[in-house]
Amino acid sequence: MSVNRDVDPPPGKRPRTEDPDSDSDAGTTEPQTELKKHETLWFDDGNVILVASRILAFKVYRGVLSRCSGVFRDLLSVKLEGEPMEGCRVVHLPDNPSELGYLLSALFLRSSFIVTQCGFEELAAILRLSTKYSIPGLRQESLEFLNYCFPANATMHEFTSLKRRNLLKAPGAAIGLVNLALELKLDAPIGNLALYECCTMPIRDLCDGYKRSDGTTETLDSKTMGRCMRGRDILVSTDFRRANQWMNVTRPTVLCTPATCPGLNISVVRRSPKAQSLFQSGHHAPQERTAYMDILQPYCRVCMSILMNERGAGRQTMLSRVVQGAVFPKTW
Ligand SMILES: [Zn+2]
Repeated sequence: MSVNRDVDPPPGKRPRTEDPDSDSDAGTTEPQTELKKHETLWFDDGNVILVASRILAFKVYRGVLSRCSGVFRDLLSVKLEGEPMEGCRVVHLPDNPSELGYLLSALFLRSSFIVTQCGFEELAAILRLSTKYSIPGLRQESLEFLNYCFPANATMHEFTSLKRRNLLKAPGAAIGLVNLALELKLDAPIGNLALYECCTMPIRDLCDGYKRSDGTTETLDSKTMGRCMRGRDILVSTDFRRANQWMNVTRPTVLCTPATCPGLNISVVRRSPKAQSLFQSGHHAPQERTAYMDILQPYCRVCMSILMNERGAGRQTMLSRVVQGAVFPKTW
């Protein structure tokens, strides 16, 4: 879907947000360019057209925007003299078109927005723009979900892993989350746990950055990358090894009934070459979960429960240190 854009000035001439003076150059002799209409956020009876980054247009309802957001209310109350489009007032916004689309979907297609099913890109867009346009309900909803996925309490971390994995399933999304946490000054647990997620990524992927669906790429700035690398050193040299100590556990007194269980007279690391290589690598990447389940598979329920408890305790100690900023100090 597209529409002729004949009232828009050349790029760079208009301020980031439309104001009464910004239409003085409307109707210039610039060649006409195509402006796309959003496929679903184009209501025929809408009464205002928002244009994101001069690329994508949304025809929505002024009253709803004004009611949800004081910033939109102020923006729309300014009298503009620009040329209307399809009889509607046109307001240019500097926002990323995809991001504005996510925000407007959450506002105007409310039933299709379920925060707990959001991918990172959608959640980030809604949190970023609900903060910018001061939309308290959406901001709180998205922030609460982020806090749920990245809890300050390390014991909760295991329980929320499924939601967290789902949220960050796009490759490199943790990089986007670190940047979002810095940009919006989110509470420390989120930023620290996002840096931790970055540390579980292969270095090459970390350097390649987070590729968003619009083709743009986000990377960590050099200072944050340095902080991440330093934290990674601390994790590999100290915390990952500590978290892997469950592989060294022995319990000679435990009686196992199934004859097939290897028992805990000898530690997992001494019994299994696979465990040994995992332990020696000091690695703690997400794929480790699959690897350790494989290692634990021959053990009986009693032994497995002992080992899992030990593993849980080790992970909690590590995550507590991450949350408290011991692994990623702001200055180092
Ligand atoms: Zn056993």
